[in-house]
Amino acid sequence: MRRISIFGATGSVGENTYDLICREGGADAFHTVALTGGHNVARLADMARTLRAEVAVTAHEENLPALREALAGSGVHAAAGSQAITEAADRPADWVMSAIVGAAGLVPGMRALAHGTSLALANKESLVTAGELLLATAHSHGATILPVDSEHSAIFQALVGEDLSAVERIILTASGGALRDWPMERLAKATLAETLAHPNWSMGQRITIDSASMFNKALEVIETREFFGVSPDQIEVIIHPESIIHSMVGFHDGAVMAHLGMPDMRHPIGYALNWPARQRLPVAKLDLAALGALTFRAPDETRYPALRLAREVMAQRGLAGAAFNAAKEIALDHFIAGGLGFMQMAGLVEATLDRLSSETRLGNAVGGLDDVLAMDHLARVRAGEIALEMRAG
Ligand code: NAD
Ligand code: MG
Repeated sequence: MRRISIFGATGSVGENTYDLICREGGADAFHTVALTGGHNVARLADMARTLRAEVAVTAHEENLPALREALAGSGVHAAAGSQAITEAADRPADWVMSAIVGAAGLVPGMRALAHGTSLALANKESLVTAGELLLATAHSHGATILPVDSEHSAIFQALVGEDLSAVERIILTASGGALRDWPMERLAKATLAETLAHPNWSMGQRITIDSASMFNKALEVIETREFFGVSPDQIEVIIHPESIIHSMVGFHDGAVMAHLGMPDMRHPIGYALNWPARQRLPVAKLDLAALGALTFRAPDETRYPALRLAREVMAQRGLAGAAFNAAKEIALDHFIAGGLGFMQMAGLVEATLDRLSSETRLGNAVGGLDDVLAMDHLARVRAGEIALEMRAG
């Protein structure tokens, strides 16, 4: 029986993964090693009982008594804290879903790869903060990384049987998020609720806000650069409001391969779960006649400074990705808490990168995971300080 684990099982990607596992036979077809979650202990315990998991882990120590109680008599071991999550990633498994949100997903993903496990990677932050390390770890342990981000799954699929040297460019599509049709001058006043009204995709809160600010696309541009090894000038972004084309690969002979489908994360998750085979998935059939038209427009970088910042990060490489992601996470925390306006998020990230470049060499080669974690920490501290200055000013 295939041994599987889901890190971030109670989130949006985690729930979709759980749904597919259950549809493909659940505990009768898979041996579930570990499921992890956060504050939603009841849901985590429910999933762990259904899949008869070896262990269920909540990220928060204070939730351990509640998790233990919810799992009483089930035979599922309960654990808590980030160390317990890392230990869960050390348990032998064949396929692991990395769907924790934020840089917290990096260490468990690295550990799974170091055991030679196939890693279905939704956690794009891993590639942004430590792309080179992650790929090197996979390579040296014979592990496979399967992209789950819909764009990267689309590109991965368009490249099956192709030679990377024949690729001229990769075109990432972006929905534009909830505020894409707002006049520029209104953006500064966008509220959390307005930002969360995504037109096409149902996702976790953080990535939904990142969609509206294009920080999500900025992370994905870097993710593309790291995962596929193309150069930054080969990566383009286009706004495609319908979210039907999930991305495209352009070849030197003029051909452009597009991947189309309804916007449903169960497609890329299911592709990664069944790869290299394809299985029937519960994804609605694409009806192009009903859709009528697919539209496109170029993104305006004054409206989306995140895209410009991504280019600067790619030019620096080294630890710049770790700094960028951490500053972005802090900016998002402040926007969610109401302390920073929508357009101030990019301002905070840019100011953090500027301050860090004056005190350290962001482009320094990455020696190991400790360097990445130290930069992640430093950038969070600096971003926190600058956020306070911005609020005071
Ligand atoms: P989410 O917020 O819905 O779920 C996040 C999960 O991670 C939850 O289980 C939560 O308990 C857990 N978690 C949060 N903080 C944690 C921490 N510090 N330590 C351990 N666990 C923690 O997020 P999501 O939308 O499912 O996104 C998960 C990842 O997948 C992100 O990296 C996101 O960018 C990526 N992704 C998501 C989608 C989508 O459709 N939601 C699409 C593409 C990529
Ligand atoms: Mg995506």
